[in-house]
Amino acid sequence: MTTRVYNFGAGPSMLPEAILKEAQEEFLDWQNLGVSVLEVGHRTPEFLALINHAEQTLRELLFIPQNYHVLFLGGVARTQFAMIPMNFLHPDEQAGYLVTGIWSHMALCEAQHLKKAYCITSDEQNGYKTIPNPKKWIIKENTSYVYYTPNETVNGIRFPYVPKTNGIPLIADMTSALLTEPIDIKQFGLIFAGAQKNIANAGLTIVIIRDDLLERMPIPHVPTMLSYKIQAEHHSLYATLPVFNCYLADKMFDWIKKQGGVEELYRINCQKAAKLYQYLDSTDFYTTDIDPEVRSIVNICFSLKNKNLENEFLRLAQLRGLYALKGHRLVGGIRASLYNAMPMAGVDSLIEFMSEFAKENSR
Ligand SMILES: *Cc1c(COP(=O)(O)O)cnc(C)c1O
Repeated sequence: MTTRVYNFGAGPSMLPEAILKEAQEEFLDWQNLGVSVLEVGHRTPEFLALINHAEQTLRELLFIPQNYHVLFLGGVARTQFAMIPMNFLHPDEQAGYLVTGIWSHMALCEAQHLKKAYCITSDEQNGYKTIPNPKKWIIKENTSYVYYTPNETVNGIRFPYVPKTNGIPLIADMTSALLTEPIDIKQFGLIFAGAQKNIANAGLTIVIIRDDLLERMPIPHVPTMLSYKIQAEHHSLYATLPVFNCYLADKMFDWIKKQGGVEELYRINCQKAAKLYQYLDSTDFYTTDIDPEVRSIVNICFSLKNKNLENEFLRLAQLRGLYALKGHRLVGGIRASLYNAMPMAGVDSLIEFMSEFAKENSR
């Protein structure tokens, strides 16, 4: 028997064991074809059935309206940082970015390398601890889209609302948020999510895009593989897509359905996060300085008052089967990622360890 640990890594991150086992069982012979899913052509009837099923299940889970396309694209989330300005900005237009953490900051920088983009608001000077008041945001004229990151994975910040944009298309990087909470798709022009946080293995990015945005013909021409329009026209099958990642994503969508859907997982995710924050708020040994109004429910960032104990904390945690708790290298500290696959027992186990560690190191 293997001993699987609780994986608190932010990404690639924990997947439900049931899915990994299923994939293992089917690995050599998928659907009685006598070949592995890794060896199956992406245009075979079996794979086409899989990708259709995956799309339908995702549509069901998120209530995606018919005027939205669902794309399964090869490449990482950061590829979207470039695709978005390349596809949507004409030379005389600009895009506005809400900068609330490292990922939205990087997305803005990439857009500025390629086209014209500006910052609507930023909390960078305060080290990303809150979301600046919307009354102070400045959305300029001639803004083609507004971009934001509903959950900042590195900084542990979550928007508790969807930003208002006065009809300007809203674009969201939901890499660490998609399927962790219900969303109203109609409020967005485009949503994307790298798969490795909460959906499948790394290398797949899911894009949900409203059809009228495909009509914004970019000038100059966008490279074929980076064109949303071409990808949508070919149902993501213009070139070979990441077959195995789609296979895992399909299983994940089924798994979410079996758990009771996104609403139910959101309810559990809130409980998991509340439990951990409650513990953090009850002790002086650990601290978290994120504005409580905008605390992430899936990436819980905190630190030890005595930073010298951090390495020992991480070492002992790992010995206890609490894996990958180290904070992102850019912000340090500790980060516990509690995506859909993390059970409550993992959170309980973490809190138990944390309180023991605090007791032993308090005197
Ligand atoms: C992890 C992450 C990314 C970057 O993902 P890559 O697939 O490595 O490019 C971008 N945005 C958010 C919100 C993330 O959590």
